[in-house]
Amino acid sequence: MEFPGMTNCGEARSYTSTIYLTAHEIGHSYFPFYTGLNEQKYAWMDEGLITFFPQFIVEKYTDDPDYILFKRNIAAYNKSAGNYNDVPMMINTNNVGRYAYRFHSYNRPSTAFYLLYNYLGKDKFAKALNLFTKRWHGKHPMPFDFFFTFNEVAGEDLAWFWKPWFFDLGCADLSIENIDTSAKDAVYVTVKNKTGFPVPVHLTAVYKTGKTKQFDFKMSIWKNNIKTYKIQIHSGGLQKIILDTETTPDAYPEDNVKTF
Ligand SMILES: [Zn+2]
Repeated sequence: MEFPGMTNCGEARSYTSTIYLTAHEIGHSYFPFYTGLNEQKYAWMDEGLITFFPQFIVEKYTDDPDYILFKRNIAAYNKSAGNYNDVPMMINTNNVGRYAYRFHSYNRPSTAFYLLYNYLGKDKFAKALNLFTKRWHGKHPMPFDFFFTFNEVAGEDLAWFWKPWFFDLGCADLSIENIDTSAKDAVYVTVKNKTGFPVPVHLTAVYKTGKTKQFDFKMSIWKNNIKTYKIQIHSGGLQKIILDTETTPDAYPEDNVKTF
């Protein structure tokens, strides 16, 4: 529980974690206080948002040369996604047990905000978050006020994203479903979205020469209930294809690699 203008925290295990913790607690001045969120019912609007945005501050100030933005966040999501603690955010926090609280209020929403940030881009995401904060300063926004402000700035109804990530049971899970090798110079890789949760596709083709080729697609490819997506890859000397699970949410990474 936070109190306006004051927080007491010990030093974290590392310099990087101390930066994160400090930025997180300062963030509470905005959520839930400046914008009067009901954190008892909608902890994701509070803890979720300020699990998300301090990661940019860590990236700027960390002394860890291997720090990759959102890598730890995604690892935490992938570890517990789909288990009995994976409860959607739109179940009120005060109805969520203490075991599910952390995943429900921190890991899953911050993962969803990261996906939204990736999809909208930095400028649109920042514009939407600023507008929401200004519009609801000193008031009491509900989750739908948050969704509607983002829809407005995005210029589209993002229900295809809100519904699975915020309302539904389930988790992100892509797989390499099929590889068609019947063509002469190309293979056709079918990526399957096994659960319908929209996530971007980051596929790396690794060649025997050590060279790689990267294929990136936004999460909106899964709009309109699309379940499979075909990618054409040059096949000469192809050694391996990898669907990223390091910065892409994916509960079951076992079916994301194919070696030839
Ligand atoms: Zn907090």
